Formats: sequence, C-alpha cells, structure tokens
Amino acid sequence: MHVNKLLSFLSFSLLGLSSGKNILIFNPIFGFSHVKFVSFMADVIADHGHNVTLFQPFHNAMKNTEGLVKNKNIEFRFFLPMGSPVSIRKCTICQRKASGNNYGSFSCDACKMFFRRTIILDLHFRCVKKQCCFDSESWSNYFKQTLISLDLTEDSKLPHCKSCRFHKCLETGMFIKPSVLLKMSCRNEDTMESVIGQLLYLDSRRSTILMTKFSFENPRLEEIVKRRKMEIVAQKILIFSDASYQMNDEDWRFFGMFTTVEFLLNLDFMEELEISDQMNLLKSFAAKATLLFTSSRTIREKHDRIKTPGGHEIVPDVLSTLFNVSLNFLSRIRSLLVNKLIELNITNEEFLLVTVILFSDPAISTLSPNAVAIKTARRASYTSALFQYCQLTHQQTGHTRFMDLLSLCHVVNKNIEDIQSLTTIVKFHLKIGECKNLP
Ligand SMILES: [Zn+2]
Ligand SMILES: [Zn+2]
Repeated sequence: MHVNKLLSFLSFSLLGLSSGKNILIFNPIFGFSHVKFVSFMADVIADHGHNVTLFQPFHNAMKNTEGLVKNKNIEFRFFLPMGSPVSIRKCTICQRKASGNNYGSFSCDACKMFFRRTIILDLHFRCVKKQCCFDSESWSNYFKQTLISLDLTEDSKLPHCKSCRFHKCLETGMFIKPSVLLKMSCRNEDTMESVIGQLLYLDSRRSTILMTKFSFENPRLEEIVKRRKMEIVAQKILIFSDASYQMNDEDWRFFGMFTTVEFLLNLDFMEELEISDQMNLLKSFAAKATLLFTSSRTIREKHDRIKTPGGHEIVPDVLSTLFNVSLNFLSRIRSLLVNKLIELNITNEEFLLVTVILFSDPAISTLSPNAVAIKTARRASYTSALFQYCQLTHQQTGHTRFMDLLSLCHVVNKNIEDIQSLTTIVKFHLKIGECKNLP
C-alpha cells in the first residue's frame, strides 16, 4: 500500500476521535527525508494519546535513523528476512548494526566499548554454561525469531554472558596490543596486577584462536615475526564447508606452535627488540613454550598425558614397535611435565609467569647486548610478580612455592631432550626406509 494513501486514510479516520486508538504506521525506506517525515507524523499522532506501532522493514540498512522518533510510547516492529539481499553490515559479535572496524573486528559501538572496558579494567568473567552462549543453536534460533519481531537495539535482548561475549570479541579478531593498552589505562607496567593481567589477556586470545580458528598456510618463522597477514579461517566453517575435513595431528601441532609464537611475539618487550633478536629468541624457545602450553591445556582438560585438542595421543604406544623404543620412554615424553604440573596443582597465573620467566632468560649467546639488557629487566619484573603472587597466595611458605615453580625449568628441559631424541630416532629410521626404497 502506498504510504501517502495510508497516511491520508489514517488522518481521515482520526478526525473526531476523542479516545486513544491502535494505529499501525508503515514507514518504508524511500529516502531519509521521507523516513524523517513519517517518524514526525508518528510522533504527532502518539502525542495525541493514540497507541502507535511503527512498522519499519529493512531499517537497519539506513544510517542515522536512531532518535528520529521522540515519543517513548511508540512501539517498533522491524522486519529483516534472513539471507536478505539488502546489504546490511552486522556486528560480528552481537549481530546488531555495526559501526565499523573496531580493534580489528567489524562490530557495533557497544561491543567495542565492552571489549575495551574489559581489558582496561582487567575484568574476568565466568560462563555458567559451556562457553557457548553466543554460539549455540538456541542463540541463533532465538536471534532469527527476535529479529523479525523485536527491536534488537536493546541490550536486554542479547545473551547476558559476558564471558562468552568477550571470547566472541577475541574470536572475531579484536585485539589491542599490550603496549597500547598500557598507555590507555595509564598503568605502571611493572606492578604484579599489570603483569598478570597482560598475560591472562594474551593467553585468552591464544587459546580462543587455537580452539576456534585454523590456517592452511605454511608460514616461515620470519614471516610470522614480520607480521605477514595470514589467512585465518574459522574451524566451524572448515567443518561446515567440507564435512570430510578433520583437523589432523599435524594441523594441531602447527597451529599450536603458531598460536604460541603469536603469544610470545605479543609480549610488550618484544616490540623493543630487533627482528633478528626476536627470531633467535623464538627459535630457542618456541618448542619449549608449545610443550608448556600443550601440557597446561592437558591438565585443564583433566588428562594425565599430552593429547591434541582433538583428543588424539600425541605420542602413541605404536611408536614403540615401529621405532624400537621402550614404552617407558614414550610414557615419560607424554607425561613428565604434565605430572609435574598436576603435582604442583599449578594455577593459570603461576603457569603463565613461569613460562615468560623461562622465555626471558637472557643467556642466549646469539642475542645483541641491547636485547640482553631489555630481557634482563623484563625477567626481573616477571620474577618479582611471581614472588609477590606466591607470597600472597601461600603466605609463610611463599618462598618454597616460588622455588618449586622455578624448578619446572629442569622438567621442561628434560622433557624437550626426550622429544628431541625421539625425533632423531624417527628421522634415522625413516631415512633407512628411504634408502631401502631407492631403486
Ligand atoms: Zn555488537
Ligand atoms: Zn557463556
């Protein structure tokens, strides 16, 4: 029905009425001035005491329409079919109207502010479900229903879980570098709270990306250090678009290492180092860090031996017969560090601090003097944060706890040595195999 006809009909039928009537006004997008005019008419009618419902199909496609309608009693009805051809950019986190690219993710202002506030104020949330409030089928069905009948600009229509909202922000690529964050929050980088806050933030980002994303690319370490843009896809899309594709152990190994390197690269002091120093540091520590993070994930998933996030054994018993190594040796590889972490009942804060203390060990011969100085200073602040944390959580026995945690260093080294021996044995056997196969 043409809107002018509808309006003239409405004004005609309104003549002589004294009590409030229920009136539906159709407000299609014909142009901004038209929408503004109809909104004004709706206000006038509602101001005269009538119950006005404003039906506005496809309004999300038009900018600056908020605030056109002043009368608070007017009820809105929106209509936006799923898969609609009208191009509407929605917030990748909450699906409301997006305002632009915010911290690396296409989002609305509310999600942008939520993310910023969460990391600046160092807030931590817990999901009462299984970390799926923004993902589950129920949310997407709920969303489809509400979209055609309700105004989604109100916060009350969104899932309330802040933990899931924060993870969704990280998953869609929101990121503020720790160095920028420090400036925003005017905090001293060396306080225990600040050090731990930064590590927890970088670690949530690392684990969220590991569990939700993947890349088919095969970058060299140098490319990662130089921040070449990689094509990252969502694991869900991977499974959806190719049902036969399952991430295999090699995929997990690569992506585990990749996300670990990203975590280390994002530590604030890394920016101050030359590319060559960053490379040397990562070369000497990436394998250890990956073992540490893999073992930590293993104990949080309540396993007693390292497994891939897909649940596969990383070092299966079958290697024993294939490569003539003892079962004890294999069992030590997959459980040595894991058992130590279980025995210590290590907290995530302790784990992250120990990891960065080991990483910032300045005793690498290939480092430049400048890098050694920077690392020494940073190591001191990490060590002091761990010491304070232990005293806070263990009072009188804080010192012993601190020493126990630092002794993890030897366990990591032993575990890595074993892994390297196994790798050498496997390579040796495979080489013989290749020789035999030569024509
Ligand atoms: Zn949003
Ligand atoms: Zn949740």
